[in-house]
Amino acid sequence: MAQKQNGLTDQIMTALSKVQEPELHRDLVTLNMIKDLKINGDKATFTIVLTTPACPLRARIESEARQAVLGVPGIKKVDIKMEANVPTDGRSRGLMSLPIRNAIAVGSGKGGVGKSTVAVNVAVALAKSGARVGLLDADIYGPNVPTMMGIERLPVPKADKLVPAEAFGVKVMSIGFMVKPDQPLIWRGPMLHSAIRQFLTDVEWGELDYLVVDLPPGTGDAALSLAQSLPLSGGVIVTLPQQVSLEDARRGLEMFRQLDVPLLGVVENMSFLELPDGTRMDIFGTGGGKALADAANVPFLGTIPIDPSVRVGGDTGNPIVVSNPQSPVAKALTAVAEDLAARLSVAALNGPQSFIPINMIG
Ligand code: ADP
Repeated sequence: MAQKQNGLTDQIMTALSKVQEPELHRDLVTLNMIKDLKINGDKATFTIVLTTPACPLRARIESEARQAVLGVPGIKKVDIKMEANVPTDGRSRGLMSLPIRNAIAVGSGKGGVGKSTVAVNVAVALAKSGARVGLLDADIYGPNVPTMMGIERLPVPKADKLVPAEAFGVKVMSIGFMVKPDQPLIWRGPMLHSAIRQFLTDVEWGELDYLVVDLPPGTGDAALSLAQSLPLSGGVIVTLPQQVSLEDARRGLEMFRQLDVPLLGVVENMSFLELPDGTRMDIFGTGGGKALADAANVPFLGTIPIDPSVRVGGDTGNPIVVSNPQSPVAKALTAVAEDLAARLSVAALNGPQSFIPINMIG
């Protein structure tokens, strides 16, 4: 009996070793993704441990694993539990010894392109998928993440640590909490450095799968010193489709490259307006973000349509991925979050060299 069970276990593992993780291009068994396999009569029960709860191919992996195991003679029922364990690229943990598995910086060439909107909605979408997420608003020129997340103030500090605010399952810290709104500060390099270090070391983040950082726009000293203070897993550039914005975005990409931050890709925001009859109106031109990404040889992460409810949601502290998750704009933002999560997993498991190098910028 025990021998028969062992035989079945082997056959199931062999069957699962033929199922590929579509993004990592290796099989589920080699990737150590199968856990707690049990056989009870003709029923097999096991857990698939994904590399991110925001896995865009979750349903496909589950269905292929089920089919493979149902192909084993003697197995008629399959019960699969899906879990996730997000890998780390080691950068964040190594340098600051923080339990943050991945840090993603969201930057832009200029202000007003939707950088904070993308950072907020990506963070919330990742948290909705079940990941542990932090959002650090380091935009010294316009720290509007608290408004976009509907947060007025920080909780009372605990012992010697600052406690991040929490909204929509995301832990939030903002440079806006540190300065009085009517007293704008002129941030000098060393001051900014110490503020950022404080954000990382003096804040009770707890364990995080993803820390999303909303960088200041542009490529000024501020952005440079910020990116240097925080070891980043990857950078994202948000741009509008029109030429002038793309030129700024190109400089943003160049900034990440100089800082040795792996480029996760380009997001094109406010790409088009969908009219009531379903047709698309290109307000700022079309295809620019994709062309920029192609020219710089970095991934294009997608286009986000214009939707007035994004602005309303931003002003009232209701991110669109929560307030209207079925809208095309929320779906596009969620897809960007899933794509980023998948790319970070691939990079963490394959090593940083698996990022596409930037061949040509400028
Ligand atoms: P940045 O961080 O680049 O300065 P924000 O995220 O603050 O830009 O966005 C600027 C303004 O544009 C905000 O009022 C925001 O709500 C709005 N906005 C951003 N993306 C969209 C979109 N896709 N559709 C409609 N409004 C948007």
